[in-house]
Amino acid sequence: MAVTRTLSIIKPDATRRNLTGRVTQMLEEAGLRVVASKRIRLTRAQAEAFYAVHRERPFFASLVAFMTSGPVVVQVLEGEDAVALNRRVMGATDPAQAEPGTIRRELAESIEANTVHGSDSDENAAREIAFFFSEIEIVG
Ligand code: ATP
Ligand code: MG
Repeated sequence: MAVTRTLSIIKPDATRRNLTGRVTQMLEEAGLRVVASKRIRLTRAQAEAFYAVHRERPFFASLVAFMTSGPVVVQVLEGEDAVALNRRVMGATDPAQAEPGTIRRELAESIEANTVHGSDSDENAAREIAFFFSEIEIVG
């Protein structure tokens, strides 16, 4: 299994509750390395572009409102098969369905305010990393 990268977002429900460090610790303890990180406030246009794949879903407007409701921390994570490893430590989208010990089971507020985002494929990871970071901002 190769060392790869994924994009993580610590969502506004987590920054509001001062959980940036706790989430990052859970990622690091799972074997992921933070190789880029910044705290930003997404504009509506940025959130709509990032989640464009979901624009026909009934929850899209609410998701964009939530993702722009406060600061987020965008991070590039590196590790063995990083996309799959990160999604294991995140847990299922709905925290009620997530395994005990996962970030969403332990920390998420709801299926929408679910604390973290993680890329779902290597191809999407590359696209999402390029959305937020230039190569000189990523230091492995
Ligand atoms: P993410 O893409 O944020 O890592 P995911 O891949 O587990 O999450 P997606 O299906 O891609 O889930 O949904 C993107 C996000 O949209 C979810 O993380 C959640 O914030 C929100 N969402 C998904 N399903 C619902 C729903 N049924 N109701 C409200 N919000 C939802
Ligand atoms: Mg997704």
